[in-house]
Amino acid sequence: MRVAVPLGRRRSVGFVVGLSDRSELPGSRLKAAHEILDDTPLWDEATLDLLRWAADYYHHPLGEVLAAAVPAGIRSGAPATAETTFWQLSTRGIAELAPPPARLGRRQRQLLERLREGPAPATDLAALGLTDALRGFASKGLIESFGQPETPPAPGAGDQPAHILTGSQQAACSAMAASLGEYAAWLLHGVTGSGKTEVYLHLIQLVLDAGRGALVLVPEIALTPQLVSRFRSRLKVPVVTLHSSMNDTERLAAWRAARSGAAPVVIGTRSAVFTPLPEPGIVIVDEEHDPSYKQQEGFRYSARDLAVARAARHGIPVVLGSATPSLESLANADAGRYRRLDLPERTGRAGKPRIGVVDLRHHAAHDGLAQPVLAAIERHLADHGQVLVYLNRRGYAPTLYCTGCGWIAPCPACDARLTVHMKRARLVCHHCGADEPMPFGCPKCGSEVRPVGQGTERVQHALNDIFPGVQLVRIDRDAIRRRGDIERALDQVASGRARILLGTQMLTKGHDYPNVTLVAILNADQGLFGADFRASERLAQQIVQVSGRAGRGDRPGEVLIQSAFPENPLLTSLVQEGYEGFARRALEERAAAGWPPYSRLALLRADGPDRKEVFEFLRQARGLVASTADDVRILGPAAASMERRAGRYRAQLLLESAQRGPLRRVLDAWLPRIEALKAPRRIRWSVDVDPIEVD
Ligand code: ADP
Ligand code: ZN
Ligand code: ZN
Repeated sequence: MRVAVPLGRRRSVGFVVGLSDRSELPGSRLKAAHEILDDTPLWDEATLDLLRWAADYYHHPLGEVLAAAVPAGIRSGAPATAETTFWQLSTRGIAELAPPPARLGRRQRQLLERLREGPAPATDLAALGLTDALRGFASKGLIESFGQPETPPAPGAGDQPAHILTGSQQAACSAMAASLGEYAAWLLHGVTGSGKTEVYLHLIQLVLDAGRGALVLVPEIALTPQLVSRFRSRLKVPVVTLHSSMNDTERLAAWRAARSGAAPVVIGTRSAVFTPLPEPGIVIVDEEHDPSYKQQEGFRYSARDLAVARAARHGIPVVLGSATPSLESLANADAGRYRRLDLPERTGRAGKPRIGVVDLRHHAAHDGLAQPVLAAIERHLADHGQVLVYLNRRGYAPTLYCTGCGWIAPCPACDARLTVHMKRARLVCHHCGADEPMPFGCPKCGSEVRPVGQGTERVQHALNDIFPGVQLVRIDRDAIRRRGDIERALDQVASGRARILLGTQMLTKGHDYPNVTLVAILNADQGLFGADFRASERLAQQIVQVSGRAGRGDRPGEVLIQSAFPENPLLTSLVQEGYEGFARRALEERAAAGWPPYSRLALLRADGPDRKEVFEFLRQARGLVASTADDVRILGPAAASMERRAGRYRAQLLLESAQRGPLRRVLDAWLPRIEALKAPRRIRWSVDVDPIEVD
C-alpha cells in the first residue's frame, strides 16, 4: 500500500513493502507518515513477488521497479480504485473566499481560481502541485471532497462470429486449453496469416467463460488499430488498452478498470506486463521476438521474460506467439522449458510466397531499384495487385558527399553521418536528433555536394517518376507523425486507392494488407554485417515478417530480395529452408561461439564527456570484481561501436557466464562496490542484465 510521507519539505508517495518494529536510526530522526493512501494492497501476492524478483534479477532498486510498474497517477498519489475524488468549495468557502483575501499565497490563489470553475478531480490538482494548498483549505473547512464512480469501460460489441478453427489451429487450441488453471509456457510458432490471433481469441473466450481475465502483450498498439478493434468486435466484455500514446488520465482509468476487474481483457505494450488483474487466467505475448519488449533505459527488463515469470507465479499458462520466434525461445523449447506448437499453413488458399533474390552484382540499381524489381512491380500493378516496397532507412539519403574533396557531412556530436532529408532541406542525425540546414556547397572546398545512398524519401521520388499516376503511400516515422496518420494511410491501402506501399519496419507491425501480391526488399545487406551478434537474427526476422505480407487471403505472393551477397549462407538458408532452417543454423553458430541463448550476459555501460575518464572508471570497476569469479568471464573495457553519441563517449564491460547463478552472485557482490567508487559526477553508468544489444 502507498503512504504519503514527509521528505524534506515535500510530501512524497512511497510504497510500503514490509513492517518492522525497530530502526537503525534513533527515534528522534524518524518522522511519522502523513497518511495511508490505499485501503487494500495495490498488488496481489503473486505480482508483488514478481516485482521483488525482477528488482533482484535485474539488479535495480525495488522502489524504482514498483514505480515503473504503475501509471504516473498512482505514483503521484491518485486513488487506486475507480472512484474519482473531486474537490469543491464548501458553503463556508464560498462565503469566506468570495472576495479573495489579500493574504493568499500564489498556490492558494491558483487553487481558488480553479475551484471557482467547478469541482476538480484531486489527481488534476495534485498534478498542478496544489496538494499543500488543498490541505490548508481543507483543514479550515473551506473546501470539501466527494467521490464519483468512474464510468466503467464499454463492453466490446462481440458481434463478429468466431471462425471455425482449422485442424492445426484446433490442435494448438485444445493443447493449450487443457493447461488452463496451471502454469505452462507455450511457444506458438505460426507463419504470418496462419491464424494465431484467432487462436488467442478462442483461448481468451474460454478464460472469460471460466470467470477469469486475460493479459495480452503486443509490441505496438498505436500503429495497429486493427488488432484492438478485432478484439472488441469479437469479445462481449470491456477490453482496455495500455500504451505510451495514451495520456496519464487515460492510462490511470484503464489501469483501474483492469485492477478492479471491470475490464477483464487488457491489451498493452511492454509495461502492461505489471498490470494487476483480480483473476488472471492467461498471459499472451504476441510477436514475442520483438525487441521492443526489452526496456532499454532505467529499469532494463524484458517484458517477455517477465510475462513467463508472472504466469508461473499465478499458476496460469503463458503463450508466446510469433512467425519468427526468438532464438532464446526456440532454445527454451528445445530444452523442454517451453512446449512448442506449430501452425505451418496460412488460413487462406494463397500458400507460401515464392521468394527470389535479385543479384545486385549483375543488375545495377538506380535510386535503389534494380531492373528485375521494377519489371516485377510493373507486372503486379498490371495484374491489379498491390506492391509493398521495404527499405529500413528513412530520409532521402544516408550520406551527403562532396564531389570535389570527398568530405562527408558528419554529425557534430556523434560518430555518425547526417541523413539528408530533401523535402525539408535539412541534414538530420538519426542518433542524437541534431538538425542543420542543407549546405549549398561543400563547406571545405565549395564544390558540389551530392546525396549518396537511398532512404524511403528518395525511393518515393523514383517510384513516382517511373510510375506516374500510380498512387503511393509511404509509412515511416517521418510520414506518420500524428494520431490518425496511420489510420488514413491504412485506409488508402485497404480501399485500393494506393497501389504501392513504401516504408520501413513500421510496415511490418502486424498490419493486414490482403491485396499485396509483391514484396520487394531493397536492402537486405544492411543487416548481414552488423556489429551486434544478433544482427543476422533481426535481419531474418524482418525479411520473414515483411515477406509474410505478400499474398494473404486468396492471392499468391512473390517476394524479391535485392542483395549484393546472394551467396551469403544466412540468406540462402532463409530463402531455401525458411525461418526454421535459418534458426537451426544460427543456433549452431551461437552454440559454437558461446553466445546466448547458450550463455548469460550482463553489460556494465558507462558514458561521459571525457573518453579517458570513462575508460578509467571501467578499469577501476573491473578491478573490483571478486577474485573468486572464475566461472564468469569479463571482457573490456571496450568502446561501443558508435563510440561518441550526443557528445558523450560510450564504453562497456561485458560479463559472460555459462549459467545464470554465478553471474547473479558476481553482480550482487560487485555493484555495491562500484557504487562506493568515487566516480566523477559526469560519468553515468548502468547495468543491463540479458542485454539485447551488446555493440
Ligand atoms: P496471424 O495472427 O497468425 O497473422 P490471423 O489470426 O490474423 O493470423 O488470421 C489471418 C487471417 O485469416 C485473418 O483475416 C483471419 O480472420 C483469418 N482466419 C483466421 N483463422 C481462420 C479460420 N479458421 N478460418 C477462416 N479464416 C481464418
Ligand atoms: Zn569538398
Ligand atoms: Zn548525432
